[in-house]
Amino acid sequence: MTRPIPLAWWVLLGTTCLLGLAFLLGHHLSARVPEVGALEPVQALPAERLEVMHLQRGQTLGAVLQDASVGWSEQNALLLAFREQANPRRMQDGTRITFRYVPEPEEDWLRGVDVTMSRDETVRLTRDEVGWSADLVRTPVWVDTLMVSGVIRDILWNAVLDNPDLSHLTRGDRDGLVSRLDQIFQWQVDFSRQVQTGDTYRLVMEREVRPDSSMRSSRLLAVEYVNRGTPYRAIWFDPEEDGQGTFFDEDGKSVRRAFLLKPIELARISSRFSTARLHPVHNIVRPHRGVDFAAPTGTPIMATGDGVVVFTGWRGELGNLVEIRHPNGWLTRYGHMSRFEPGIRVGTRVRQGQIIGRVGMTGVATGPHCHYEMVRPDGRWVDPLSIPLPPGDPVPPSAQERWAEESRERLLLLETLPGPPIQTLVQGPDVVVAEDQPDQGGR
Ligand SMILES: [Zn+2]
Repeated sequence: MTRPIPLAWWVLLGTTCLLGLAFLLGHHLSARVPEVGALEPVQALPAERLEVMHLQRGQTLGAVLQDASVGWSEQNALLLAFREQANPRRMQDGTRITFRYVPEPEEDWLRGVDVTMSRDETVRLTRDEVGWSADLVRTPVWVDTLMVSGVIRDILWNAVLDNPDLSHLTRGDRDGLVSRLDQIFQWQVDFSRQVQTGDTYRLVMEREVRPDSSMRSSRLLAVEYVNRGTPYRAIWFDPEEDGQGTFFDEDGKSVRRAFLLKPIELARISSRFSTARLHPVHNIVRPHRGVDFAAPTGTPIMATGDGVVVFTGWRGELGNLVEIRHPNGWLTRYGHMSRFEPGIRVGTRVRQGQIIGRVGMTGVATGPHCHYEMVRPDGRWVDPLSIPLPPGDPVPPSAQERWAEESRERLLLLETLPGPPIQTLVQGPDVVVAEDQPDQGGR
């Protein structure tokens, strides 16, 4: 049985709480806002003198402090504070160390030291009453959406690099953008041969920008390339919402193919697929069941499609070989490797474009190259350079609803830029008829 608490108790309790709160607030405020009778003139902090040093190869942070004429006890205090935020033994050559001095008539006074660990992190050492303290300062970024269009005069590279709307991007970021456009459209457009003056592009990009205007990360949301009047579009979409999204066209078909055209980004074809060729080492005529891509030793070799590694090891004349089984039953083989990439072993799941090993000339080879084979599910070898590559998976039915919404959103952003009308938007992929409208009579 519960007895009701008398009202008086409630009043007392409430008053106590209020008083306590008022005390705390008052204390807090008075601590933060000093009471001033007459306003004193406010002295601006003296300007700092900055001295920048860089960690030389093999040099320690302590040695840099020594070079900067920081006294012994101060060096120890600084290193101790630094260790709270980072490991002084794990610093990269070239790390920038900024000493912040307050100019004094006798000798400048060291107020702080900033150690730039990476573009996104700085350890800030500050002197206070008791000594030195350290904070990890993250470079602030902001997120925005960049929408750009352009016309090709000669090559795509120049059209992107010289676009005034992209001039605030660093050279490296613009280079990266061209590579990504090339990657996205690699199955549709050969940017080294097919491009024509008057071709146009439009792109919508979501990015994180640092104060120096370099990008921390970015994602192309929608891209269009119009080649000789034919528009190619790619819309970013993540069907499983696991960060492994990819690009689809307006109809939800994958822009990718199940296989890359070649396992090495920049390579020269040194020998083609043939049913009978004169072997350069054995000097006899026999079939060459793959394509040889010549590249310097150590060049990365990529898995041409998603799959599972089913063999790594020595395989006779092919030397170090990796075999990958793909979901569609195909098999790809990569020979003569100088070494396998760490973590690549039987059973490893690999993604298209993932590095699996390095070019070499193990086995029988006259020079460094990757011998690349494609085997169909029925066990027949095919010429990787002449087969029509099977398409990648379309948007799965389970994600259709989200796809309709997100793709439309992204295409609408693309359409704010000058360019050809986007048909699916004109027709509307999902025409919504207002509910109060009379039935249109079974059209
Ligand atoms: Zn070969």
